[in-house]
Amino acid sequence: FGGVVKEPPMHIVHIAVEMAPIAKVGGLGDVVTSLSRTVQDLNHNVDIILPKYDCLKFSDVKDLGYNRSYHWGGTEIKVWFGKVEGLSVYFLEPQNGFFSKGCVYGCNNDKERFAFFCHAALEFLLQGGFHPDIIHCHDWSSAPVAWLFKDHYVHYGLSKARIVFTIHNLEFGTHHIGKAMTYADKATTVSHTYSKEVAGDPAIAPHLHKFYGILNGIDQDMWDPFNDKFIPVSYTSENLVEGKRAAKEALQQKVGLRKSDLPLVGIITRLTHQKGIHLIKHAIWRTLDRGGQVVLLGSAPDPRIQNDFVNLANELHSSHADRARLCLTYDEPLSHLIYAGADFILVPSIFEPCGLTQLVAMRYGSIPVVRKTGGLYDTVFDVDHDKERAQALDLEPNGFSFDGADIAGVDYALNRAISAYYDGREWLNSLCKTVMEQDWSWNRPALDYMELYRAARK
Ligand code: ADP
Repeated sequence: FGGVVKEPPMHIVHIAVEMAPIAKVGGLGDVVTSLSRTVQDLNHNVDIILPKYDCLKFSDVKDLGYNRSYHWGGTEIKVWFGKVEGLSVYFLEPQNGFFSKGCVYGCNNDKERFAFFCHAALEFLLQGGFHPDIIHCHDWSSAPVAWLFKDHYVHYGLSKARIVFTIHNLEFGTHHIGKAMTYADKATTVSHTYSKEVAGDPAIAPHLHKFYGILNGIDQDMWDPFNDKFIPVSYTSENLVEGKRAAKEALQQKVGLRKSDLPLVGIITRLTHQKGIHLIKHAIWRTLDRGGQVVLLGSAPDPRIQNDFVNLANELHSSHADRARLCLTYDEPLSHLIYAGADFILVPSIFEPCGLTQLVAMRYGSIPVVRKTGGLYDTVFDVDHDKERAQALDLEPNGFSFDGADIAGVDYALNRAISAYYDGREWLNSLCKTVMEQDWSWNRPALDYMELYRAARK
């Protein structure tokens, strides 16, 4: 009768070692949660299998209870079930202590622990009588699911399932990633441009026929300036000037900068080579030269880099006490206040598979200033140079960007941004409104994943 044919719900199981907010280390944890939530909202069934780390943020797990036990790999594995952000999660707790180490990563036998987890997760699906349509695994850490499934479990009664493998960052564990690429039915990475950038890598090149770039989105509930307990005034694109002014003052007060109407550049990042450390340092000095303020929130896993920034912080906090603050730690609440209170968020990455900071920045009406690489290229369109590229996607230009990984590049983008603050406030305010109204949620990417899941089953 001309109605839309309703597709039957699919059953998707993620096997992952991170999940926001209970076991989040990086972007992978965000993707597992927010992709799953959006797919579940489209009326599909989603389950997540996660190690039961002793360091889980248990306060964000609802109704956690013992579910069952089974034996595998020479140990007993206790299964717990609970709800996280409305999602069903099975937690595997092997009695060999593999996940009682006080951390997600960072043990000298991480490869062994996670390979064990992958095997145990497939065993759990088999013994529990699950028949998923799709098993989705992520990065090197759950890559073994792909080959363990195809070598063993496909013959044991999980035959209906197809394997989808997502690469969040090719930098780590390429051997595992190469192998999983061979075995997966479909593989993805987290932006179109990054998929092109890595296409020549020996782990990827032979598999381009089944490899796709699907952009990450951001969780609209987690990042919402209208409903954010870490910022002083709720705002939307209608009252963003007031909302952002209040947030800027609160930020200046909180980190001890002078309360003043100056261009404020925010940087929120892991401090690693990937993120363009030399460009970050240069941008701090350039911003100060131009009379602006800078707040950097970042932590460095490498103690030498951390030390280097501690020294820089000491120098800046004495030479520019009222205009520069480096917070060398991980601080989620402060990150919200920076996204809201900054005028510009700088992301000068050397490479960036997708990048979430520029997307969150836009959600809070902050203008991204980025290097044109990977997902940054796909989401930030320069106001002077990318009008046509944006229009082809039905978008307005939304930021400032640069090409080269050198200081001339950063200067080119940052100088234009800061000049716009001094000389074109009205125009800049209308740009803030434009970026806030763009949709960088999971709505569109989740549809792309559903299409991929369907294609994997053909
Ligand atoms: P990556 O996963 O490579 O670190 P992404 O841009 O994909 O980079 O994701 C970074 C996420 O981590 C963002 O949500 C960002 O706000 C957050 N983040 C990064 N560093 C910090 C920090 N020091 N404190 C709080 N949040 C941070």
